[in-house]
Amino acid sequence: MSENKLQELKDGLFYEPKHAMEIIDGETVKQADEFCEGYKSYLDEAKIERESVEFFVREAEKRGYTEFDNRKKYSAGDKVYYNNRGKSLILCVIGKKSVGEGVKISAAHIDSPRLDLKPNPLYEDTNLALFKTHYYGGIKKYQWTAIPLALHGVVVKANGERVKVRIGEDEGDPQFVVTDLLPHLAQEQMKQTMAEGIKGENLNILIGSRPFSKDEGSEKVKLNIMKILNEKYGIVESDFLSAELEAVPAYKARDIGFDRSLIGAYGHDDKVCAYPAAQAIFSVENPEYTCLTVLTDKEEIGSDGNTGLNSSYMKYFISDLAVMQGEEPWRVLSNSECLSADVNAAFDPTYPEVSERMNSSYVNNGVVITKYTGARGKSGTSDASAEYMGKIRKMLNDSGVVWQIGELGKVDAGGGGTVAMYVAALNVDVVDLGVPVLSMHAPFEVVSKLDVYMAYRAFKVFFEQK
Ligand code: MN
Ligand code: MN
Repeated sequence: MSENKLQELKDGLFYEPKHAMEIIDGETVKQADEFCEGYKSYLDEAKIERESVEFFVREAEKRGYTEFDNRKKYSAGDKVYYNNRGKSLILCVIGKKSVGEGVKISAAHIDSPRLDLKPNPLYEDTNLALFKTHYYGGIKKYQWTAIPLALHGVVVKANGERVKVRIGEDEGDPQFVVTDLLPHLAQEQMKQTMAEGIKGENLNILIGSRPFSKDEGSEKVKLNIMKILNEKYGIVESDFLSAELEAVPAYKARDIGFDRSLIGAYGHDDKVCAYPAAQAIFSVENPEYTCLTVLTDKEEIGSDGNTGLNSSYMKYFISDLAVMQGEEPWRVLSNSECLSADVNAAFDPTYPEVSERMNSSYVNNGVVITKYTGARGKSGTSDASAEYMGKIRKMLNDSGVVWQIGELGKVDAGGGGTVAMYVAALNVDVVDLGVPVLSMHAPFEVVSKLDVYMAYRAFKVFFEQK
């Protein structure tokens, strides 16, 4: 057989994952780069879940979405949103078909790993004022020292008034930092494991150093900080008891690489799926099926809590739609489909040992479908069926979306989970689909612009199903 013939046979029979640049045209590359300019602005504006909800509510209202009212009747083409306590959000476009035929759900999360302030955080030690923190989500603690931090969130005062906090982001704002030992004196620290070198109780944020006055007395640095906070926000120390204040990296999203093909930023996981899933539903007019983009909270700590997807808020919303159209909620759910929009670990050539090359996702090979996550023999996951995988595969192929498959690392290398299992628990067909990320959960994660755009295209064709 000639070499050409052999190649032809191989092309027909073998599965060869390809770099997106081998598949797409220049125009698509341009569209991807443009799309990512919007994504970068979103990243800078909305670093925490509450800011994401505000961002997407504002974008939705610009596009004619109104706040969902379960007593109203909606008709095909109507656009509504459901804001769950300012921390999770459902965007919905009513379809032409009855919801009894099922709805199409894209579900991403808008919380990211970070350092939360403890309920009683403020103290002074040796003339320095600091905040005690309790980290949120899976972090490598040593990565969070000696980087500039900003503070985001809300404080609810004794009188019930709610004060928004966002400091460290604007040019000229002060920023904050967790200090670390100098190498000269770190002999003992450096002997410890990376998990123990920086302990949870070491993640104290430096917030000030000047005493209030020359007068005698204790805790004058703390007093000075409290006075500044009181002048700026009208709060007193006990108001921290009813606050959610989150320390996040203070830097902005930036292009990475001489070719500007990548984006480095805090919180790609999972804003890199939330933004495309939201833009995809914004692009949908008069869909056949009712479409939902769910932007959820609390995924990083197991989806528990009433703003996470292990709560019933999405089920209740879909139930409201069902009742409105005279359908049984469980039938609507049982006929529904979901793309659990979450990131996967991209193959990192510096750390190849944690991945299995044949089943890893790669930067620039397109959006990644993860059939199952979990750990220890597929525990703690929804393992998507061959039938649903087949359906999604055909849908993406038919519309020219560049995609790949990926497992979360080698067997028994570790593991993780997504919201897929909570959606599956509602008897909805679901599979994970998202963007491969380098340095996932680090304060500065990296994704490819082409993959981000392919995620958008994937959610869009999912919503446009006939
Ligand atoms: Mn995630
Ligand atoms: Mn995560």
